[in-house]
This record gives sequence, C-alpha cells and structure tokens, in this order.
Amino acid sequence: MSKAQTSIKTEDGRVFYDMAVADNPCFACGACCYHYRVSFYHGELDSQPGGFVPADLTSPVTPFLACMRGTENGHSRCIALQDNGQCSIYARRPSTCREFPAYTTDGDANPECNRLRKIYGLPLRK
Ligand code: SF4
Ligand code: SF4
Repeated sequence: MSKAQTSIKTEDGRVFYDMAVADNPCFACGACCYHYRVSFYHGELDSQPGGFVPADLTSPVTPFLACMRGTENGHSRCIALQDNGQCSIYARRPSTCREFPAYTTDGDANPECNRLRKIYGLPLRK
C-alpha cells in the first residue's frame, strides 16, 4: 500500500480508499472520472436519510441506482471533475469512487489507472 493511500473496511465488507490532498495523484488525473458510468445505490444521495452525495449532481439510472451526471453513458466527464483535475465533492464522492484504488497493495500505481491514462493521452504513473 502506498503511504499516501489509506484503506477503510466497511461493515459490509467493502474497502474504501482515501488520500491526503497533498499526496493525491488523482488530483492531477481524473481519467477514471472520464471513463466509467459512475453509478451507485441511491441511498447514498443526500436526498435520502443519511445520504451524502449531492443529489443535484446526479441522474437516475433505475429506481434504486443513481449515477454522477455526465457519466450516464461512460466515456464522458463527471460533472464534479474540475478543470484542474480535482473532484469538487471529494469528501462527498460516492462509494464507487472510494472503491477504486490509485495504488495496489504493493504500493505501485494501479495498472487500471495506467490503462485509462494511456487512453486519454496522459503519461503513465509509477
Ligand atoms: S485513474 Fe487512477 S490516478 Fe487517475 S483519478 Fe482515477 S484512481 Fe486516480
Ligand atoms: S465524483 Fe469525483 S471522484 Fe467520482 S467520478 Fe466524479 S469527479 Fe471523479
């Protein structure tokens, strides 16, 4: 695990990743925020009890799923991704984003990050 990346195991067995702003390689990247449909359980929306993701930045997918607006069809920019590469709702981003690690457990760059970075013409991370 990279020193910059911390992991938290949730009560339901999921693993969420987090990083300090200063050491966060995602803040000069955003490739995954361009690539996938970022969908998640609608209970995470701040319009639901205990939810935290800004609902006005999302679109409905099914009665129980929402996605970040802009990512509905994939290969398109998430509305929360700013021009400087930073997520404008980092502390309130959905679980889908929290589960995608920038580093492997060995501390190397996640190969999936580099696959995406290559697609978008960004230099590969180490
Ligand atoms: S592709 Fe990897 S490095 Fe880039 S923003 Fe996503 S998780 Fe971060
Ligand atoms: S919510 Fe933030 S981290 Fe998640 S896809 Fe959008 S810009 Fe990226």
